[in-house]
Amino acid sequence: MKCGRISSMKIIKNIQELKTHLKTLNNTIGFVPTMGALHEGHISLINQARTENEIVVVSIFVNPTQFLAGEDFEKYPSKDLADSKICELCGVDILFMPNINIMYGEDEITIKAPNTKSYILEGLMRPSHFDGVLQIVLKLFNIVQPTNAYFGKKDAQQLSLIQQMVSNLFLPINIIQCEIIRDEDGLALSSRNTYLSKDEKEKALNIVKSLRVATQLIMKGNLNIENIKDEMKQILQNIEIEYIEIVSRSFTKIEQVEIKNSIILVAVKVGNTRLIDNIWI
Ligand code: AMP
Repeated sequence: MKCGRISSMKIIKNIQELKTHLKTLNNTIGFVPTMGALHEGHISLINQARTENEIVVVSIFVNPTQFLAGEDFEKYPSKDLADSKICELCGVDILFMPNINIMYGEDEITIKAPNTKSYILEGLMRPSHFDGVLQIVLKLFNIVQPTNAYFGKKDAQQLSLIQQMVSNLFLPINIIQCEIIRDEDGLALSSRNTYLSKDEKEKALNIVKSLRVATQLIMKGNLNIENIKDEMKQILQNIEIEYIEIVSRSFTKIEQVEIKNSIILVAVKVGNTRLIDNIWI
């Protein structure tokens, strides 16, 4: 773990206390929203926020409205003690850990993610997932009112939709996109990797292998999307593929790979664990 400094961090669970505390500070605020079970991916976002802002706020909240029935909301990994230690070591100023009752009320106004972009790929597999994501991110933005908010390219479609929300709703916040952090074998870090057995982890490594093969094909001049997807499917043949797709960086359909404007996305199930990964071309 590479972190900046040790600070005296405040853990806040109450919205009013957080707002009152932030009001006394007249500084740039960098905000990193998470669902906890922190790993090096989250830490890289926190480190970037630390170097670019005077105050760093991290939130940990497992947001129920972005989980569909039957998904892992109930058993989502929770490591509050370790997470708060990590945040402290990384020089976080405020760790916001609200509970569900203060974040949601009865019969709420909801956010409707855009019809097209949020019902393809992740949104096709998890309909209404992005409504819940945008709902909670907007709530957190309104509470924290950050200067800069940090999101990982790992969740590329989420990142794109948050950028769209900021633009469509004229929110005065800069969205900073951060690189995907992988383990030494290349597997993109995810809180859900803890669900994987040793065998499943081996299988999961084919995800990054397929993305690397796709990149090599493109570097050799093959821009044919169907052709690249077929090669990737070969590599992923002993995994349940949910989707393999190549779209523009704004998640629109493209006729062929466009260098500096494409993302190759993969979603698979390894055993019971759903994993996503992507590479920006
Ligand atoms: P989560 O806790 O899964 O909601 O993730 C919180 C933030 O961390 C999101 O912006 C994710 O995109 C980002 N993130 C998760 N995994 C990674 C990773 N391996 N590399 C970079 N960012 C990540």
